[in-house]
Amino acid sequence: MFSYRHAFHAGNHADVLKHTTLIALMKYLTQKDAALTVIDTHAGAGLYRLDGDYTETSGEAKDGVFRLFPDPKAVVEVVAGKKASAKTAVKAPLAPALQAYVDALKALNPQFAGTGDPAHLKIYPGSPFLEQQFLSGRDKLKLFELHPTDYKSLAGNIEQLGVGRQVTVAREDGFEVLKTFLPPPARRAMVLCDPSYEMKSDYARVSACMADAVKRFATGTYVVWYPVIPRPEAHDLPRKLKTIATREGRSWLNAVLTVKSSKLTTDEEGEVVRPGLPASGMFVINPPHTLKADLQAALPQMVELLGQDRNASFSLTHGG
Ligand code: SAM
Repeated sequence: MFSYRHAFHAGNHADVLKHTTLIALMKYLTQKDAALTVIDTHAGAGLYRLDGDYTETSGEAKDGVFRLFPDPKAVVEVVAGKKASAKTAVKAPLAPALQAYVDALKALNPQFAGTGDPAHLKIYPGSPFLEQQFLSGRDKLKLFELHPTDYKSLAGNIEQLGVGRQVTVAREDGFEVLKTFLPPPARRAMVLCDPSYEMKSDYARVSACMADAVKRFATGTYVVWYPVIPRPEAHDLPRKLKTIATREGRSWLNAVLTVKSSKLTTDEEGEVVRPGLPASGMFVINPPHTLKADLQAALPQMVELLGQDRNASFSLTHGG
């Protein structure tokens, strides 16, 4: 039996951006006839429950992945009692990158795949299971997770896939361990660096780790997820990553999805209400040439489907 963690954030708007981008990268990079090493420095638990049963809240997924589906009634059914602020779904078919994301979710939710009914979308795959889905026989996936409970879930779930040594899981510090794998034997690698940024020091560790990694192996594809929040370290991170890429003569792409205003509001009792995560970004060093077009088609649909107020928007910048 796979073990699932209850994670309130799983499937939220940031996961939609992160995992849509990740899948677009994996699809492109695994097409080539040469081995790819994928390194996930902050892997998480691997699989998450979106609901225990219909009476349990599905957390932030109601304003994330569940908004991608055409039937808002199904969304309301899933979150039973907690009415999702469901919007009318886009009339056009989903952009290919978003459709690939939905298809990847279907691969782990057979009943959802069979019926197309989002009420049957119960398991949310984290980055390790999305990455694993796209590996070809010659590729390798290296997963690092420091939290003991998450590590245990992840290691157990990966073991059950029966993929042997193609996928390895270690309870190690992803920031520290990355350098020992670069450059990879076949000189093709993608690194996902997705810390929780609970500690302020994570921001500096991300930029130091990426600066070192690009120096060691300049042609790898480096992918960093970051929150867009009113905090100087968060504001500086994409700027620092841009500097690292530019200094080493590498190309970069930065996709930001904003779903709502970051302003504090007050409720009826005059209490300050924090908005939760209003926006997040994916910064990619050495993006494949296809990624820009993939995201250019998908981001406006994300804004339309996931946007919560008139501040919803996206930006897609690139250089190098
Ligand atoms: N990448 C995952 C996904 O997309 O499904 C989510 C990862 S979650 C945002 C961040 C994870 O990093 C948490 O599970 C946390 O326990 C773990 N973590 C925190 N510090 C770490 C470190 N220094 N090295 C490895 N894992 C760490």
